[in-house]
Amino acid sequence: MEKQVTLIDKKFSLYLNEEIILRRIKELANVLQKDYADKELVLLCILNGSFMFAADLAKDFNGLVELSFVKVSSYEGTESKGKVDELIGLSSDMKHKHVVIVEDIVDTGLTMDKIIFLLQQKFPESIEICSLLFKSDAFLGKFKPKYIGFDIPNKFVVGYGLDYNEKGRNLRDIYELIPE
Ligand code: 5GP
Repeated sequence: MEKQVTLIDKKFSLYLNEEIILRRIKELANVLQKDYADKELVLLCILNGSFMFAADLAKDFNGLVELSFVKVSSYEGTESKGKVDELIGLSSDMKHKHVVIVEDIVDTGLTMDKIIFLLQQKFPESIEICSLLFKSDAFLGKFKPKYIGFDIPNKFVVGYGLDYNEKGRNLRDIYELIPE
């Protein structure tokens, strides 16, 4: 039987297993390594959702890299609200640095638009986006991720850092919501 989990009041079925996720992350790390050889790279990890992705991406990255963590909250339940708070913990020392934003998922892209707007005010040398998941059908944003793990359909997913009302972040695999 298909692997399933229940989180609070919702059921989810397996969508991407850990092995597939980790294999793809290794590929992304290799591409970043090549693209940023000889450049001062900062991986700017967006908490809370990207914590697992950022950790595995950084472990697969062979070379000098800075890791920085910021927090933004924009989501409650299973529907994006497009409401974005300020970035908490953004370092002011971004000049001459090449920033790759590490995000768990880009859905409408509105959160990312706001993150980039705030980051631009710190004048980094360059900004790109690396998102493990990208819902291309839902995307309305100005900045499409250059580095994408998986382009997924417009479904609600949890696990591997992604939550449903703060639950499920610790799951090793990614699960999709089973409609009621
Ligand atoms: P956007 O502004 O791109 O619509 O949404 C960005 C944020 O919404 C993501 O960083 C993530 O926190 C949340 N989000 C969007 N889609 C999903 C999803 O399928 N599952 C979960 N758990 N969060 C999502």
